[in-house]
Amino acid sequence: MNSLPRLSGLQFVKFYYLLSGCFGLIYLQTAAAIAQPVSPPPNQVVAPAQQISPLETVEPVMPVAPVPSPNPSNSPRSLPGQRPVVVIDPGHGGPDPGAVSIGGIYEKDIVLDISLQLASLLETQGIQAILTRQTDVDLGLQPRVAIANRARAALFVSIHANAISMDRPEVNGIETFHVAGSVEGEQLAAGIQQQLVSITRMGDRGVKRARFYVLVHTAMPAVLVEVGFVTGQEDALRLSDPATRTQMAQAIGQGILGYLQRSDRQ
Ligand SMILES: [Zn+2]
Repeated sequence: MNSLPRLSGLQFVKFYYLLSGCFGLIYLQTAAAIAQPVSPPPNQVVAPAQQISPLETVEPVMPVAPVPSPNPSNSPRSLPGQRPVVVIDPGHGGPDPGAVSIGGIYEKDIVLDISLQLASLLETQGIQAILTRQTDVDLGLQPRVAIANRARAALFVSIHANAISMDRPEVNGIETFHVAGSVEGEQLAAGIQQQLVSITRMGDRGVKRARFYVLVHTAMPAVLVEVGFVTGQEDALRLSDPATRTQMAQAIGQGILGYLQRSDRQ
């Protein structure tokens, strides 16, 4: 069925002129628009196109928030007006519990608690503390090292708890490792070990050398502290005691502060 109205001859002519008039108007407006140069209204300010110098580069966004200004020497000394950066590395985390104690507490939780307390303590002493992990997350060894190297930290302190066979409850005590040949690492290790033993009164297994990944690949004086044996009869009790963990954080903090003060005097 045809739904269009039938037009008489005169109506058709009128309709035709109306239609062609409309198209004519549209054509004229379009032509005028093309012919006119594009210029902003007099009140509008046009910003010049931004130019980027070829020497300028866009800084990549770093996953670690506090990155200090570069310290190419990697010296433990801090520049005037610049807070020294210390990276604290709580061992293990996430699906990796580390050593599991007699009472069922995990190394990953013990060392995280000590590390968090140590970080706040250092911050109150004017040191910028960066934790490699702040929660119970899985973190490989390479990212831990990368955080320290990228931050150009003055020091790197990894915190672990020891374990031996459950049949050896008589094995107890604290030991601190540094990589062989690092005089600075050895001094830092000695300072931390001495403070830990004197404050906690736990066994002293001494300062030792080891080629742990985090000690070998960090570009600054680095130590790894074993704050006692979770399998040790005496140590397991101390490690599961929150007050002792606070003492440990304070002791490691004293060792770090002592080392940094000695470095400043040299
Ligand atoms: Zn460990």
